Amino acid sequence: MLEETLVLFKNIRNRDYDKSLAAYKKTGGFKSLKKVLKMSPEEVIGFVKKSGIRGRGGAGFPTGLKWSFMAKDTGKPSYLIANADESEPGTCKDRELMLKDPFLFLEGLMIGSYAVGCNHSYIYVRGEYFPSIKSLNDAVDELYEAGLLGSSILDSKFNLDITIHTGAGAYICGEESALLDSLEGKRGHPRVKPPFPAVSGFNGCPTSVNNVETLACLPFILSDGGVEKFKSFGPENNSGTHLVSLSGHVNRPGIYELRMDVSIRDIIFDIGGGISNGKKLKGVIPGGSSSSVITADEVDVIYNFDELTKIGTMLGSSAMMVFDEDTDVVKLLHRITRFYAHESCGQCTPCREGTHWSRQIIRDFLNGNGSEEKLNLLNRVGGNMIGTTLCALGDAAALPIQSFVEKFPDEFRNYYTL
Ligand code: SF4
Repeated sequence: MLEETLVLFKNIRNRDYDKSLAAYKKTGGFKSLKKVLKMSPEEVIGFVKKSGIRGRGGAGFPTGLKWSFMAKDTGKPSYLIANADESEPGTCKDRELMLKDPFLFLEGLMIGSYAVGCNHSYIYVRGEYFPSIKSLNDAVDELYEAGLLGSSILDSKFNLDITIHTGAGAYICGEESALLDSLEGKRGHPRVKPPFPAVSGFNGCPTSVNNVETLACLPFILSDGGVEKFKSFGPENNSGTHLVSLSGHVNRPGIYELRMDVSIRDIIFDIGGGISNGKKLKGVIPGGSSSSVITADEVDVIYNFDELTKIGTMLGSSAMMVFDEDTDVVKLLHRITRFYAHESCGQCTPCREGTHWSRQIIRDFLNGNGSEEKLNLLNRVGGNMIGTTLCALGDAAALPIQSFVEKFPDEFRNYYTL
């Protein structure tokens, strides 16, 4: 049977681990930070680049490269912001890390802050995550009490403060520039880019926004031999383990830490125990609700960034939603489209109008008013959103629409031929 590869969940899977600072230190916690503080920030960025880690929040952009874009010698402070907003439907792995092993994430945040020259870091956390917020608050307080935050950390010249900021429930505030606006006290609207946050981010200063899981990988990457071990967990360009949020019609839903060379079939049938109630698999939304759907015939694909791109979908935040043969995909798409229509910030016409139009067209099908013409119209409305908007929400709303129509056209036709 396929087993997890434990890097991030090593402590969480240990039933005796009590997530205290003492317990975290006992497992080697803060050794990497100690090592990092003897290196130059450029050396740290070099190690992160060599590890090949790509952001785990959805975009999959190489983390070391992102940091190297940060503007230097600007005379302004630099910021590292942890994106803990985790609002992509189906995704719930950052919640577990913050709740059950907060010091792992916080050590990663400290390493990242040192690398980008940040002395005041912010955690922008999803407001509904009450237990995770409490866990983080307690952990940050404990770090201050232990002298691991504040001035001269571990007798070095590195100073760092951490502020936890809770969001107010808007999906769009997971988009990095909207997150920054929200953190500045404004309405969370995605910004026109350029300038990118690396040049003008939080309060107009150079900023990197990184996902919780990405940051939690850093203590391992910066440990002795960590870069090579991290690379060995997956094929070229897809290094490390990732936390897979497996949900839907499987017998064992959950969050699993897996290598990046495992197929979707193995994740569903081995790790997830197969389809519940003995049903057959119909399809999978592989990377959060904004990824293109795939059919049961396509699940032999390896579950990583590059292999999913090759078949026209994406890994996103590694949130795999599985649905069985009895699922009404028109209703499923209607549910997804309602979500995006509700969460569109309204700045761009194709997204503001397109999300509402598509929701209404799909509702027409459900009400028995579908037609071949409306099916084509639905596809066209989706196509008009792709690449024409300020942020990725336009694409996120359109990709499911186009892929559901392409992969399951007869399910729509059943609504008007029956
Ligand atoms: Fe707002 Fe949608 Fe435009 Fe993004 S794509 S800025 S969510 S209107």
